[in-house]
Amino acid sequence: ATPTALMVGVGRGGQLGILIKGQDALEASGAIDTVVFDKTGTLTTGAMRVAGLAPLGAPEADLLRWAGAVEAGSEHTIAKAISETARAQLGELPRAGRFTTLPGLGARAEVDGAAVTVGGPRLFAQEGLAMPAEAAAAVERFHARGSTAVLVAVDGVVRGVIALADEVKPSAASTVERLRALGLHSILLTGDAEAPARAAAAATGIDEVVSGVLPAEKAEAIARLQGEGHRVAMVGDGINDAAALATAELGLAMVRGTDIAMKSADIILVRDDLGSVVDAILLSRRTLRTIR
Ligand code: ADP
Ligand code: MG
Repeated sequence: ATPTALMVGVGRGGQLGILIKGQDALEASGAIDTVVFDKTGTLTTGAMRVAGLAPLGAPEADLLRWAGAVEAGSEHTIAKAISETARAQLGELPRAGRFTTLPGLGARAEVDGAAVTVGGPRLFAQEGLAMPAEAAAAVERFHARGSTAVLVAVDGVVRGVIALADEVKPSAASTVERLRALGLHSILLTGDAEAPARAAAAATGIDEVVSGVLPAEKAEAIARLQGEGHRVAMVGDGINDAAALATAELGLAMVRGTDIAMKSADIILVRDDLGSVVDAILLSRRTLRTIR
């Protein structure tokens, strides 16, 4: 009877867009006490848009041109928003050379013979770039609105700040509420700065925020929770969080994720609806009870 019950559970999941990879996922679903969500693209739609520009000592068009040319080389959702906005407003962008992407931090390239850096406050602190008071104030202003703030430097001088906005998914708040009703603690894990992370947490009711985490540190953050005695489910899209998905007792990958996410996860969620996180946990628990 046991394999039949498992097949029924897995089959039911398939109908709901919940692909359960094996019995380990069922066992883990019963044991977890904490659910960790990646922010960008998982808790939020991931469709960032430029929501503000604060140029410093340069015309707004130059700020967009520098940043747009660099970001044309990156696949990041921030990069796409900036390069598309720049192209829409300015037309053709200069070709960037010597492009380097710095995962979880930003990107760098040569534009019109100048070294242009685009990235979050963490990158600028790390590079030891002088932060003009005006730039710091713009970052703070954008953060206060819950936006992500990205700085632009040309030959080591900060030339402006770009705000990016993203919406939390409509299903996020009710999902967090349902997890709470099940006695599960929720955590937001992100490479973004603390203020925009807190804004997303406030919009969803999520219990706790862990921000400013580099892609490579996301798995360590999961391991730290496990070291404190927690059993952890991680929900991600596989962009920067495949290792965290693999480290968690239960890894749930939302389908837009990469092949790596598919391999690292225990459960694949085909629908974009975060409610399927709770549905997956409940279905797994029910199936496990039937087997036993
Ligand atoms: P998340 O953890 O929310 O998925 P990421 O790890 O992808 O976010 O990015 C973390 C931060 O790194 C961003 O908020 C931004 O400050 C910076 N960043 C990463 N990639 C880029 C880029 N291409 N351009 C500008 N900033 C970037
Ligand atoms: Mg992400």
